[in-house]
Amino acid sequence: MQTPLRQAAERIVATLRDAGHVAYFAGGCVRDALMGVEPNDFDVATDATPDQVSCLFRRTKKVGAKFGVVMVRMGEHELEVATFRSEGNYADHRHPAHVQFTNAEADANRRDFTINGMFFDPVENRVIDSVGGQADLRARIIRAIGNPRDRFEEDHLRMLRAVRFASRLAFTIEPATFEAIRRQAPGVRTISPERIRMELEQILEDTNRERGWRLLHAVGLSAFVVDGLTFSDADVEQAARRLAALPAKASFPLALAAVLHERTDPPTRAVCVNLRMSVAETDCVSWLLQKLPQTRAADQLELADVKLLRADPRFEDLVALLRAEARAAEQPPVAADTLARRADAIAPADVRPLPFVNGDDLLARGVPPGRRLGRILDSVFRAQLNEQIGNREEALTMAEGLIRDTSEPTEPQERG
Ligand code: ATP
Ligand code: MG
Repeated sequence: MQTPLRQAAERIVATLRDAGHVAYFAGGCVRDALMGVEPNDFDVATDATPDQVSCLFRRTKKVGAKFGVVMVRMGEHELEVATFRSEGNYADHRHPAHVQFTNAEADANRRDFTINGMFFDPVENRVIDSVGGQADLRARIIRAIGNPRDRFEEDHLRMLRAVRFASRLAFTIEPATFEAIRRQAPGVRTISPERIRMELEQILEDTNRERGWRLLHAVGLSAFVVDGLTFSDADVEQAARRLAALPAKASFPLALAAVLHERTDPPTRAVCVNLRMSVAETDCVSWLLQKLPQTRAADQLELADVKLLRADPRFEDLVALLRAEARAAEQPPVAADTLARRADAIAPADVRPLPFVNGDDLLARGVPPGRRLGRILDSVFRAQLNEQIGNREEALTMAEGLIRDTSEPTEPQERG
């Protein structure tokens, strides 16, 4: 079965070939197809220059013409068509200072790992492999193309990519490649936080996240990726077990919370901020870790707390984390089950009811705006959630009592 995306890619290759150029599928899509996985994107590589590519197709965008990349729109799809190139002088350990247009073999040599360095000719149905990619694919090995130390020195991001591919595909990292990462791991600090986040996110969102986390640590990258924290082998082991016990589909904040676990709030937030996570994501990690301790005694939570937790969109994640924590400690997930059961027993309309009493009611009774007003509202609302009061009259009576009990003495007290 041909997907529309694959058909689009084949048409691009055919057009280039008809015009007398060499053109292949390249990189990740060849790897995926050889593994029997339908690629999620197809990249085309060719000896046609960006100008020649632009002339051959009606709808093109020169996104990185300097690097030989043209986007070609084919039907509904937009594909990357890149001119065979070699790269030189990686000034900032990330970006090549210049590129040179070359042939397929030289283009393979600039790619990161052997399994990513192959081409496929869809016209002749033939794999073009000058780097030993097929053998490494069969042996399930991530191996840098060329000298691994040089390749990681050129581009530090490749170290994280090695871990990501090894983790996602459940491959091993070849010893010399592994050793080179171990030596150069601190170099990851020079990569932009946004890129580090993208790689870490992909590693932790994948179902093989446990393997990815262990591997990050084994190659010495954990402390640089989760910047500012150190992880003992025991920390890593426990975190790995929690990650393994998360649901298959877990968000990045949830997985990161499973890693950070008992770290206190300021360092937790610092990690998130360093990774350029959004405010909502940062709050999520922080909320999960703050709520975790109280939920361990889920049977002792007041009904109001169960409702407040249940009303939060992050509740499912909290239960998942609680469950993972128990499983990691080889305990039955009693607290998670209890919390989920108590939450399920609450009728949806009772989870977040409209408060019987609001701020205007208290202002009308002479309570000035401020912390005291907030505390009284809170107490009355908790009583409502706890079903200790059942209507507005009872709520107002309670509020009036609290107003009396908390009012300042009329005579200011002299200090001795
Ligand atoms: P994924 O399935 O995650 O997209 P991919 O292999 O397609 O994996 P991309 O980042 O889309 O990865 O890159 C496409 C191809 O470009 C890779 O297969 C590899 O050949 C090459 N490549 C990408 N990033 C680098 C890099 N930092 N250094 C060298 N080659 C790279
Ligand atoms: Mg890709």
